[in-house]
Amino acid sequence: MSHVITLDQLKQTLGAKLADGARVVAPVLRGELAFFQEVSDLEQASFAPRVRFQNSIKEFFFPRHETLFSFVRQGSDVQLTDAPDFDVEQIVVGARPCDAASLPILDPLFAWDYQDRFFQQRRAKSTVVVFACKESDGHCFCSAMGGAPDNTAGADAIMFDLGDGSFEVRCVTDKGKALFTGKTTESDKVGKACDPPKVDFEIAPIANWVRNNFSSPAWEELSLRCVGCGACAFVCPTCHCFDIVDEGSYSKGKRVKNWDSCQTALFTLHASGHNPRATQGKRQRQRMLHKFVIYPDKFGQNLCTGCGACSRSCGVAFGVRPLLTALAQEVAKSEN
Ligand code: SF4
Ligand code: SF4
Repeated sequence: MSHVITLDQLKQTLGAKLADGARVVAPVLRGELAFFQEVSDLEQASFAPRVRFQNSIKEFFFPRHETLFSFVRQGSDVQLTDAPDFDVEQIVVGARPCDAASLPILDPLFAWDYQDRFFQQRRAKSTVVVFACKESDGHCFCSAMGGAPDNTAGADAIMFDLGDGSFEVRCVTDKGKALFTGKTTESDKVGKACDPPKVDFEIAPIANWVRNNFSSPAWEELSLRCVGCGACAFVCPTCHCFDIVDEGSYSKGKRVKNWDSCQTALFTLHASGHNPRATQGKRQRQRMLHKFVIYPDKFGQNLCTGCGACSRSCGVAFGVRPLLTALAQEVAKSEN
């Protein structure tokens, strides 16, 4: 026996949460483009199946710009005021499984040498509802990363579009049950995700090649078309580089955390003018090392879900899947 909710019932359920003061994040159409954003009315939300979103749900856990504390200086006295706690229930609904799968990958990073209360509070306060994929495109490779179109990593509940204005709901955690208990009706309808995307490479031998070929000329050759814009990092659900700067004046201001990307030339530029990653080849090598060698060595998981957002958003048709495909050829060459 399955549990089914209609689109109207889903909107009523989320609307009741809004009325209780919760923050609801859902896909919203702007023209033909879909963005995850906070909604004030469920009529703003679009739950139609789609592959492409312009942003990741990452920013509702790790915002692109975040105040850590503010300061006021009076003479030699400096008063510091911590940023307030994240103390509101948050429901993120409509994410793809490969977007939500980034959250448990990022959990150990934000609870490692420094306990990032901002990320941790948002995680604790959030319920994540994913929609199983109905289709994939040529950028998707979740199947190579241990994911699937109906993967539930990072999800509190998963919904399957039944194509008749209703969804099968499968609760994964107590948070998911708390959201949907009493809101669904029993049914014999069972949802199905699309087939896993076809992928013609394996990660393990590529990661091994990346680990052992730091000085290969392939890095520069393969990265020539990359313009170093950083868009791939900003849409990526797992990229998490940030810098910390003080904004304001000598007497008053705040310390803020802003997203950054290892793909921009300024990222590693020293004040001396020296840049240890002076070329795009070195920056792409760093990205692949971090995602497929350094992070799994440290935290036991690849820093990639195979969502394809990076190559889908890249203006020059590059990104991680094209680079993995090219590196698979380097692996083949090294084996011959
Ligand atoms: S891979 Fe594409 S999106 Fe990423 S930095 Fe290079 S040009 Fe920009
Ligand atoms: S690197 Fe690309 S495919 Fe991997 S999680 Fe980030 S955006 Fe998705």
